[in-house]
Amino acid sequence: MTTVLWFRRDLRLSDHPALVAAVDEARAAGGEVVALFVVDPALWRGSGTPRLAYLARSLRALDEALGGRLVVRRGDPRSVVPRVAQEAEASAVHVTAATEPYGRRRDAEVADALGRAGRPLVGTGSPYAVAPGRLRTRGGTPFQVFTPFRSAWLDHGWHTPAPRPRSVPWASLPSDGPPEEPSTDVRLPPAGEAAARHRWSEFLADDLARYRTERDRPDLDTTSSVSVHLKYGELHPRTLLADLAAAPSGDSVATYRSELAWREFHADVLWHHPDATRRSLRTVVGEDAWVDGAAEQQALDTWAAGRTGYPLVDAGMRQLRAVGWMHNRVRMVVASFLVKDLHVRWQRGADHFMAWLVDGDVPQNQLNWQWVAGTGRDASPYFRVFNPVSQGERFDPDGTYVRRWVPELRGIPGAAVHRPWELLDAPDDYPAPVVDHAAERRATLEAFEAHRRA
Ligand SMILES: Cc1cc2nc3c(=O)[nH]c(=O)nc-3n(C[C@H](O)[C@H](O)[C@H](O)COP(=O)(O)OP(=O)(O)OC[C@H]3O[C@@H](n4cnc5c(N)ncnc54)[C@H](O)[C@@H]3O)c2cc1C
Repeated sequence: MTTVLWFRRDLRLSDHPALVAAVDEARAAGGEVVALFVVDPALWRGSGTPRLAYLARSLRALDEALGGRLVVRRGDPRSVVPRVAQEAEASAVHVTAATEPYGRRRDAEVADALGRAGRPLVGTGSPYAVAPGRLRTRGGTPFQVFTPFRSAWLDHGWHTPAPRPRSVPWASLPSDGPPEEPSTDVRLPPAGEAAARHRWSEFLADDLARYRTERDRPDLDTTSSVSVHLKYGELHPRTLLADLAAAPSGDSVATYRSELAWREFHADVLWHHPDATRRSLRTVVGEDAWVDGAAEQQALDTWAAGRTGYPLVDAGMRQLRAVGWMHNRVRMVVASFLVKDLHVRWQRGADHFMAWLVDGDVPQNQLNWQWVAGTGRDASPYFRVFNPVSQGERFDPDGTYVRRWVPELRGIPGAAVHRPWELLDAPDDYPAPVVDHAAERRATLEAFEAHRRA
């Protein structure tokens, strides 16, 4: 019998338990495996162009790795997947289980439709080392706090990477071909499993040992840059964790593992609170703390264009527009600035990030925004307001990062680039600060205090 492997956020062939399950079932019956990808208009419409362009490249890479056997179909998976399964006379459709709200709903409906024709939708594994929803506190409740979650996650552990099946009998079915790559001026990273593995090996060899001390430095560019590969499942975190276990142990290994644990924590929080994609998990200020209408749009536009007059914020926003990625420290600073200096709701910033980030990922993006906004689980306290100037001086001490992304400031040497307004010959094509950080910080703290008292 034939089986179908429906690829979604798992665009790889190594360490792929659902692929192993599909191949085992097909081989047992002397059958073949259909490699299917469905271009779902609901997801395609809602994704930013840089992500779609990256996905198109990643699908091309997967198709090449499959010797041109990737079957791409367009349409609603609720009808397309059962149709392909019927065409192939498949015994089952195998998937890596979806864990996010849209994917969970869609899969339940696809499973119903397949079930009516007597075919199961078989979920094996998830995009995480430990499936979201699996870990519980001793009291049986979901984790609210990161550190105990991480301890439970480490104690639970994970499987070793799944072996890559040899000479898979891929089936041939008519295919619409990988989707056309939409045009974008964002410079994309190399896509596909081979590129992902290459990037990860480079990081292990060159930068892992310095990760603990350098991970907060946007000027050094020494973080792993694998978020986009994790997002599309070109790499699985289990593979990374196995390589980390084999690396010379040290603080950097523990720190890196801990960052992966944050990724799993956010997925777990979203599993238990699907509405956290839009709704604040905690209310920390009254509705009157936010700007609305034209004032909100103007603040958003200025921030998005990297024209706030705060060099670190502007450098981050311009990096986002140029390469669809931003360093984590700078993501925190720009998000704090939007919410706590410009008083724009976190959801608006999260939407902008999702439109431009190549690694834009619902659990990580929405819950990191909630973390910065002080509304999430185990979030940064609302009264912590990042100072965009001192953050720049601390984490970009020589100003290299700012000069890289803000050409108007390239003539200013050293750390002075973080305070251009103090220079007698400040460049006249760079804006003065749009707000006074100290005053906006006070306003934020007052709104927080007023809400607390109320
Ligand atoms: C406002 C905001 C929005 C964000 N949006 C996203 C997003 O849409 N997609 C996304 O993958 N990450 C997001 N992050 C988390 C983080 O910024 C990126 O994962 C990281 O910058 C990716 O670069 P890297 O792979 O070089 O990270 P590294 O420093 O090399 O970290 C290794 C891996 O650990 C995980 N990780 C690191 N930091 C975090 C974190 N704070 N939360 C969760 N996982 C983390 C990522 O999977 C990352 O690839 C966001 C952070 C903030 C503050």
